[in-house]
Amino acid sequence: MKEIIDGFLKFQRDAFPERADLFKRLATQQNPRALFISCSDSRLVPELVTQREPGDLFVIRNAGNIVPSYGPEPGGVTASVEYAVAALRVSDIVICGHSDCGAMTAIAGCHCLDNMPAVGHWLRYADSARVVNEAREHLNLHDKTASMVRENVIAQLANIQTHPSVRLALEEGRIALHGWVYDIESGEITAYDGVTRQFVSLAENPETRAMPYRPASAA
Ligand SMILES: [Zn+2]
Repeated sequence: MKEIIDGFLKFQRDAFPERADLFKRLATQQNPRALFISCSDSRLVPELVTQREPGDLFVIRNAGNIVPSYGPEPGGVTASVEYAVAALRVSDIVICGHSDCGAMTAIAGCHCLDNMPAVGHWLRYADSARVVNEAREHLNLHDKTASMVRENVIAQLANIQTHPSVRLALEEGRIALHGWVYDIESGEITAYDGVTRQFVSLAENPETRAMPYRPASAA
């Protein structure tokens, strides 16, 4: 804990003064352009990977970068999605999985989660990805887990489209969806191409979208 508090003191001494104007502007308002949904994993830092400053990303993080489908009893993720899309009117949503994800490893390896009932329950929101992944052939557990990470991003992209605020924004052509997988060791990101239904290098294909802007008139 000492490192964390020392870090805060360093922030107050060095980083805050450098951004004093920015924080003054942000003191009473925010206008982030993207909702970024990622795993809680300590090794994936959305602002670092995308080189964004405070005020740029509205972030939701949880085990497995999961977005429960919309339902009659909405929870915290649903409320945060609704606020980002309906109130802040973000123009892009990124759902970002990552390599070596503990949640996806547990699913791919069919690990018993009896001692972690909340985790087990939470990961049921990845069931559609699990079922698709189980039906496939995999060379080994490593490949099966990597495939599960990708399938989970695709499943959560489907889940988020059940949210009324997201449906409306898509219908009005004012939002784009992105599905990414971040590789911890290489720092590479692959992005889901909704047209070819393949993951491709984001560096080589920066225009890749899981679901593009599509004005309602062009639907
Ligand atoms: Zn993870």
